[in-house]
Amino acid sequence: MPELLEVEAYRTILEPTIGATIASVTADALVCGATPNPCPTIGQKISGVRRHGKLLLVDLGVHTIGIHARMTGTICVDGVSPFPKLRYAPSTSDKRFVRLSATLDDGRVIDLHDPRRLARVTVDPDVSGLGPDASVINAVQVERVLGTGTSPVALKTRLLDQSRIAGLGNLLVDEVCFQARLDPSRPATSLTSEERTSLAKQIPRTLRQLGKRGGSDMGALQEFRHRGANCPRCGAPLRRATVGGRTTLWCSVEQQ
Ligand SMILES: [Zn+2]
Repeated sequence: MPELLEVEAYRTILEPTIGATIASVTADALVCGATPNPCPTIGQKISGVRRHGKLLLVDLGVHTIGIHARMTGTICVDGVSPFPKLRYAPSTSDKRFVRLSATLDDGRVIDLHDPRRLARVTVDPDVSGLGPDASVINAVQVERVLGTGTSPVALKTRLLDQSRIAGLGNLLVDEVCFQARLDPSRPATSLTSEERTSLAKQIPRTLRQLGKRGGSDMGALQEFRHRGANCPRCGAPLRRATVGGRTTLWCSVEQQ
């Protein structure tokens, strides 16, 4: 599903539409709720395109439209997605799955394509409940993500918690823990100060590396997510369990 890196790719393909005006809109009632009715998007100029975590934000004059792609949402401009294939969706775009379509005054068309209809579009979304963006998180903020005391909550659970750190999903968290050589099932509060420093460096580093490679599913563990696989780095058996409600893999030897 789209994680920070995919949403950043959506932001990038929308950036050239800044300055254009929305000429017409069609919107699926479930995905868009009352949007665009309370917000007169038609005739509004796109003044900015931002991202916070997995939330895509399109600024229109006085209002901002928030797009949460959820499981299978993809943004396309003139039918083209930022990916050669729609990774989380059928390999070809299908008109039936376009849940929001905005035609611009210059003829370009922005579509939100979502087969599972789980994406959500909101007007003026409240981002105050989101933690700092994972791509720019610093060591002090990582301390707050992990917490203190004797809480048994797992490291992975904390890293998936969008209110503590915004943007990481299942694949990115597994890859960050793999690169930082940390057991994702450990209590987050148990990390030593060296491990905390390593984690703080590894989060933005992993995001940069996977961003260059093309997305959240380009990590070292990706091809080894099947049962019985061995660690691609040391060859030891990979452990597999549900952590934070998600199927999680980690090296039985290197990640402690
Ligand atoms: Zn290993």
